[in-house]
Amino acid sequence: MNSTKDVWAAVLDILATKLTTTTINTWFRDCEPIELEEGRLVLYTASPFRKEVIEKRFTSFIQDALKELFSTDFALLLLSGEELEKYREGKKEEKPESEMDDGYTFDNFIVGSSNRLAHAASLGVVKTPGKKAYNPLFIYGSSGLGKTHLLLAIGNAVRENTPESKIIYVKGDEFLNDVVTSIKEGLMEEFRQRYRFADLFLVDDIQFIAGKDRSQEEFFHTFNNIYEAGHQIVVTSDRPPLDMPLLEDRLRTRFEGGLMVDIKPPDQETRMAIIRDKAGHLGLALSDEIVERIAEQIRDNVRQIEGVVKKLTAYQDLSGERITIERVDMIIADVIRTGIYVPKPDDIIEETARYYQISPEDIKGKRRSKNIATARHISIYLIRTLTDYSLTDIGKFFGSRDHTTIMNSLHQVEKTMKSSPEAAATIRDITSNLTSRQR
Ligand code: ADP
Ligand code: MG
Repeated sequence: MNSTKDVWAAVLDILATKLTTTTINTWFRDCEPIELEEGRLVLYTASPFRKEVIEKRFTSFIQDALKELFSTDFALLLLSGEELEKYREGKKEEKPESEMDDGYTFDNFIVGSSNRLAHAASLGVVKTPGKKAYNPLFIYGSSGLGKTHLLLAIGNAVRENTPESKIIYVKGDEFLNDVVTSIKEGLMEEFRQRYRFADLFLVDDIQFIAGKDRSQEEFFHTFNNIYEAGHQIVVTSDRPPLDMPLLEDRLRTRFEGGLMVDIKPPDQETRMAIIRDKAGHLGLALSDEIVERIAEQIRDNVRQIEGVVKKLTAYQDLSGERITIERVDMIIADVIRTGIYVPKPDDIIEETARYYQISPEDIKGKRRSKNIATARHISIYLIRTLTDYSLTDIGKFFGSRDHTTIMNSLHQVEKTMKSSPEAAATIRDITSNLTSRQR
């Protein structure tokens, strides 16, 4: 698993068709590929003299070979002697360690019957990345049950085992936005380069790309490139592929071809272990009675459990008072209440716009092309069903339409949902995307 090395080997193969073996041996024998990224290949050779010769005589050969491989232009950076160390140090400063969160590891993931299989499969991936039986690994389950935690734990562990691996972590909605902007700016080639060399490709919340044709298409190609290179892919989702009617069949087949594991809400015992562990990390001592109380009250979301423990810590730090059961109940009530997410109309409009790949202004405006009109009806419907706004209020969001126009939109959506399962699925998807936006 070392794609920069693979690429360099391929470059040498091409050079071998143009230069003599002696030339290659003389100049490239100790050449070491350092990294390939953002349209640049970085090479290291110990001797400054060799570096100079390569630069003068062979730059164009190497660039041509890269172009042959990737149909795009690459820059070349040669380092020799101490330059490599300086380069690496510079990189470190430029990119603070990694985009991944170091806080998520296997050490602080509590295992119980609800997540045992997902945990074991994740460890399997770390042990032998790319192994057919786990590739791709597809982890699904409701929000707040530890999917992202496991995904990042895999990334952190692989980075520790093999620091040279190229690890890409991307959220489904970021991938989507990346596709959209890359198309707009004519940078699709760069887009593909960015993803195709991953040794480990971590995709969080894939449900965001279901139904978006162009993004699914790009994802499919990215997936295939990485998969065919024998590199590991791990995907998370808030539901199994079967429950994503808008997911392309070929992607569904890919996902089902690997290992699918679900995470369920933890049982009482596991919840208690999680509470103790989180409290321990925060330096908070909790009585058994309190631990049990929290575990009984919050059953299906570890994020909320964590929220309670954090609030209790803050309370204790600020007030210095002993934590009572009554205080615990108040804090739980607080967390559960704020845990029910009510999206704002603007969020709904924004999410619907993104789903249809148009702008929020299109939705609020007057244009009536089919796509825009459908998106407008759906946002109206979602605002009506997910928030407390009145018809008149909703009308105001949409360029002061009156309440009968809003009524008409609602009827239209309800009618379509009855007759078209696909439309109903679209609305479910947008709703679920909205809920996932909490975090
Ligand atoms: P998801 O991605 O499934 O919505 P996350 O991975 O973001 O959920 O988890 C939510 C929070 O709960 C995180 O802070 C995570 O560390 C914590 N958490 C979830 N499951 C566990 C677990 N089994 N052990 C310890 N912490 C957990
Ligand atoms: Mg998550």
